[in-house]
Amino acid sequence: MAMMNAQQYRDSLARRKPLKVYLDGKLLANPLEHPYIRTSMNTVALTYELAHDPEHRQLMTAKSALTGATVNRFCHLHQSTEDLINKVRMQRLLGQRCGTCFQRCVGLDALNAVFATTFDMDRKLGTQYHARFRQFALAMEQNDWIVDGAMTDVKGDRAKRPAEQQDKDMYLRVVERRPGGVLIRGAKAHQTGSVNSHMVLVMPTVSLKPDEKDYAITCALPSDSEGITYIYGRQSCDERKLGGGEASDIDAGSPTYGGQEALMIFDDVFVPDAMIFMNGETEFAAPLVDVFASYHRQSYGGCKVGNGDVAIGAAASIAEYNGVARASHIKDKIVEMNHLNETLFACGIACSANGRKLPAGNFFVDALLANVCKQNVTRLPYEIARILQDIAGGLMVTLPSAKDWLNPQTAGILKKYLAGAAGMSTYERMRLLRLIENLTMGRGAVAYLTESMHGAGSPQAQRVLISRLANVEEKKVYAKSLALNNSVETVEAAIRSGLGKLRAPKAADAAAPVKA
Ligand code: SF4
Ligand code: FE
Repeated sequence: MAMMNAQQYRDSLARRKPLKVYLDGKLLANPLEHPYIRTSMNTVALTYELAHDPEHRQLMTAKSALTGATVNRFCHLHQSTEDLINKVRMQRLLGQRCGTCFQRCVGLDALNAVFATTFDMDRKLGTQYHARFRQFALAMEQNDWIVDGAMTDVKGDRAKRPAEQQDKDMYLRVVERRPGGVLIRGAKAHQTGSVNSHMVLVMPTVSLKPDEKDYAITCALPSDSEGITYIYGRQSCDERKLGGGEASDIDAGSPTYGGQEALMIFDDVFVPDAMIFMNGETEFAAPLVDVFASYHRQSYGGCKVGNGDVAIGAAASIAEYNGVARASHIKDKIVEMNHLNETLFACGIACSANGRKLPAGNFFVDALLANVCKQNVTRLPYEIARILQDIAGGLMVTLPSAKDWLNPQTAGILKKYLAGAAGMSTYERMRLLRLIENLTMGRGAVAYLTESMHGAGSPQAQRVLISRLANVEEKKVYAKSLALNNSVETVEAAIRSGLGKLRAPKAADAAAPVKA
C-alpha cells in the first residue's frame, strides 16, 4: 500500500471498529466528530498531507530500510545520522505549521527503540522477538500506520515498585498466559494521539526486577481491540472549541489544530503471540525505556522549536499591531527568544549528528546530548512564553469574548477602543492575542509548555541519565593532571586504565610541611 494522504488517513480511522471513548462524562457515539478530537486529528493529518507536498516531500519521507520503497518518515528505521537530523528538521516543520503536538513521534521512537532492543535481547537470551518485530515494522510502514507508543503506567504509590503496589494493576501486566497469547490488564496515562491511532505499541515504563516478569511486556495491538477504553483528557480552555461558528473559532485561538491525550485502560485484552516482543525478560525493560526515552528526548529538540517559531512570530506580529515593533527593547526581546529557541534546535541537531549505528542496524542518538536537549526543553520554552506574554500585553487575558465582537450593540465600541497601531486591523490584532493566549495558557500551552516539562520524562528523569552518562571520573583526570603537572603519557594511561588514578609522587606528600 502506498503512503496515505490526509483524506485516506481520515477514512482509515473511520473504518476502525467503534472505539469506546468517554469525554466529559459521556460515551461518544462518533468520537471522530467531536470538536476536540476532530481538531487533534487535523494535526495528525498534516503528517500525511505534507508528505505529498512537493516542497516538503523529501523531508517527510525516507527510503525504507526493509523494502527500499518510499515511506513516510514517521514509519522509518533511521539508517544514518542524516536520517536522525532530518527527523528533527521534519518535527520543527510540523511544529511550525500546527503550533501544537502532532502526536506521531511516539510511535516512531517506539519503533526504533523496540527494533534495537529485540535484536539485543535475542542475541543475549536466544529469544525470537526481532524477526517478529521486523514483520510489525514492515506492516507499519506499508500501511502507513499511526502507532501510539504506550509507555507511561499510572504508577500508584511512587514509593513502591510495580509488584509492591496494593493494587497490582497500577502497572500494566500480563494477567493470564494462554496457548497462543496473553491477556493484559492495566492503564497507560497521557496517551498522546491514542484515539487517532491505528495501533498501540505497549512497553514497560520502569526497570524491573526478576520477580516482576508479568510487568515485562512489550506488544502491539489494534487501537480498536476489544477491552480497550479511552477516557479523554481535559485541556485548558478546551470548551472554546465548542459551539462552532466564528465566535468559537476566534476564541479558540488556533481553531483548526489541537493535541490529544487520553487515559487508556486495558481490561484483560488478548494479545496473540505474533504481536508480543517481550514477555518476561525483565532485564531488558530498563534498556528499552532508556533507548526509547533518548529518542523521544531528541524529538523535543524539533517539535518544540517549531512551536517556538510560532511564538516568536506571534511576538513580532503583535508588536507591530501594538505599534511598538521599532522599540529597541522589543527588538532585543525577540533576539532573546530566537537565541533560546535556536539553542534547543542546536541540541536536537547535535544529538542526532553525534548518533551511531546500533547492532540491530538502525541509528541511535547521542543519549547524553539528547537528555541535555530535553532538560533544556523543560526550561527555555517557559522563558520564551514569558517574553511573548510581556510583548503581548495584558489584553491577552482581558479581551472580551468574540461574541461581543460579533454583537452589533458592542462591535462598534470594541472596534474603536481595541484599535492598535494606525492602519492595522483590530480584528487581526484580536485574533493574534487569542493565539498567544492559546499558546501560553490554553490548549496550545498543553503542548508547548506542560509537554515540554513532562513529555518524554520529567526533568529529574533526564538528570538521572545525565549523571549516569557524563563521565565525571574522566573529567577528574583532566583536572588532576593539570594540577599535578603529569606527563601526556601518564594522563593517557590513566584515562585508559580505570580513570581517576592520578597521584602525586609519594615523596611529594612526604615533603609537605606537617601542620602542628
Ligand atoms: Fe511529537 Fe512533540 Fe507531540 Fe511528542 S510532544 S508526540 S515529540 S509533537
Ligand atoms: Fe510527548
